Amino acid sequence: MLSKHFKKAAEVPCEPPLPPHPYLSLQGDEIRLLTINPGSPNLESTSQISCSLQHVDLPGSQDNGVGGGVADSGRHRGYARDWPELQTAPDKGRLLKTDSWVQKQVLSKYDEKSQQSLDPDVGGCTLAHEEGLPWRHSWGDYVALSYVWGPQTPAKTILIDGLPFLVGPNLYLALEQLRRSQRIQQGFKVWIDAICINQQDIDERGQQVGRMRDIYASAWQVVSWLGGGQDDSDMAIDALRYMARLPTEPGEIEGLYRVKRGMDVRPLFITWDSYESPFRKEVFKAILGFLTRPYWRRMWILQEVAMAHPEAPVLCGGKCLSWAEIRDAAALITADEERFGRLVTGTLPSTWNFEIGQARLSERRHLSPERLWRLMTELLQVQNDQNDASFPGVTTDMLRPLLLARDAAVTQEKDRVYGILGIKAVAERVSLVPDYTLPLAVNFQRFSSALLLGGNLDLFRLVSLLDKPIYTKGSLAGLGSRVLEAAPCVHNLPSWVICWTCAALPAAHLRAAYRAGGKPTVESQSAVVISDSCLRMQGLIVDTIVSLGTCHPAEATDDYPASGSKCSNNPYGGLDETREALWRTMVGNSTAQGECPAPEEYAWLLDPRIWRDAVAGVFAHGLGLESVMKRYGSLDLCGYSLKELIFGSGRTRRPWGERYYNPTKTQREALAWAVDVLAWRRLMSTESGRLGLAPTGAVVGTGSSFFRVAMCR
Ligand SMILES: [Zn+2]
Repeated sequence: MLSKHFKKAAEVPCEPPLPPHPYLSLQGDEIRLLTINPGSPNLESTSQISCSLQHVDLPGSQDNGVGGGVADSGRHRGYARDWPELQTAPDKGRLLKTDSWVQKQVLSKYDEKSQQSLDPDVGGCTLAHEEGLPWRHSWGDYVALSYVWGPQTPAKTILIDGLPFLVGPNLYLALEQLRRSQRIQQGFKVWIDAICINQQDIDERGQQVGRMRDIYASAWQVVSWLGGGQDDSDMAIDALRYMARLPTEPGEIEGLYRVKRGMDVRPLFITWDSYESPFRKEVFKAILGFLTRPYWRRMWILQEVAMAHPEAPVLCGGKCLSWAEIRDAAALITADEERFGRLVTGTLPSTWNFEIGQARLSERRHLSPERLWRLMTELLQVQNDQNDASFPGVTTDMLRPLLLARDAAVTQEKDRVYGILGIKAVAERVSLVPDYTLPLAVNFQRFSSALLLGGNLDLFRLVSLLDKPIYTKGSLAGLGSRVLEAAPCVHNLPSWVICWTCAALPAAHLRAAYRAGGKPTVESQSAVVISDSCLRMQGLIVDTIVSLGTCHPAEATDDYPASGSKCSNNPYGGLDETREALWRTMVGNSTAQGECPAPEEYAWLLDPRIWRDAVAGVFAHGLGLESVMKRYGSLDLCGYSLKELIFGSGRTRRPWGERYYNPTKTQREALAWAVDVLAWRRLMSTESGRLGLAPTGAVVGTGSSFFRVAMCR
């Protein structure tokens, strides 16, 4: 044994550290581009990767559109922006069950549709028809690579201009795959940050990071690399490509399933339908593996994806799919979240039929729709905003990229703000030159200042102040363990500066502009002055908070809930009007999709049964309405207690078995959304008798003028 170990150790070559690559400094508008040598035609995957670097002139882009100021007219190589490897049909052989009902019900009906957009003849398409066409630039053309740096060991050696150069294992796999791609073999060059920026030169790094927007926007195409093939990623890609070709209309989705109606004996007297999917079990696991790849959570991909086009390729192992296919597959899962989504996450405890509130738990957030398929939809929406040239000026949603950025993973904390400067919605409002020599806190303050000085107070919606950490009993870590659910910021920043490092509270984002008090009388544009880290701004005091609920079942502080003096004035009118104001407030008068106002059917939220014992079969992770009632049922809201608003003032008898019933789809949506909205927010009422939702940092009375300003929106 000993000699074997000995031999193994001796076999490991002792690699001396490489000398820094002799980069030539960049002049003017120059960037560096990498040419990957295609090697011999019978390329072995093990043969050394050999590349060369060159400097090319890339003028700054004059507009937000495609081409970055480069004439894009006429036919040039790659004029159709197509990626030949995307032209092959997905291999559905391993995806579907072999039962006869699948053959009859699914394949016969959907297969024709699924093949429509693919022409079998172009499967082996070569680029011969582009021979003789000019390149877009005198020096050729390039793609920009979007990927995760990941662990840098074990480092792999490639050759650049004949000199050895170390790259991380993930980039090495990407280079191997790119080398096999038809477009790269055709002569397209590649821009890769780890190689094309001299990472040792901190000035050049700041300058080139500031140019990322131009570099990605001017690229012929952005190529995303998700990593090597593993966890059945080939199956996941085939499944997503197949799903992208299935219809998403509710009626059509129904046809995909085999319904098995049956009595569920766990909660008595409920008939829950159960559904059988035509996909094999392994497919859902593979899709979960695909959606939880580290790539999706990385900060820099935000702007890289934003610069891509819907037909841009996303490479993973030896397979690829397009952004448009990801978008369509994500839309299908979103439309069918209760069935398909649950099969993907596979997290629902078997004794429950329906699960809500998991996105509001730190422990379960990684498996919430917001971190999986809805994340794809958000990314693609940012991409869509980026490519939308129809409304010049400040029209794009800035909060979407900011929220995504806040949730993303970074290798360097400073990248949190630098990594989104190229996104149109941010670039329209902030112009900052990245400076990696500045301390973290200064960077955060520069970014918040730039947004606020532009008069954009939307930034305050990201404020999530907490006085004390909140711990919960962890369900996954074992008995008796505590999980830190949320904590106050530890970075000693001015209170108006958004911390991008501390984890944000997992509150749901309200998309619709919600105003409990009707139309605003004050414009949100406000004079802002910042001096010596102190923010001064004008505001109008519209009202004062008198009652506040707790924001979390485990919140342990004397300050909440706080019931102020009973107000005599009720601007809504009587009890019925106040009850309506209550259910509308509970959902921000919107739906989870951002539709406003919320549909009348959401008034079901006032049903006393769901406040008493929760709904049988619905698992709410302790965040359900019965928990809200327990925590602050006596809270004064416009002269009524919450208890009175829901149960009425008299004692009512509770018939046996009333919690056993089957809520409709809309009712379940309303309940899920109300639980989402109320978590990490405080139900409040004001001196003039209005209901509202307050952020966690809100306090009663005159203590927090900041929130009174922010609340006037
Ligand atoms: Zn912090």
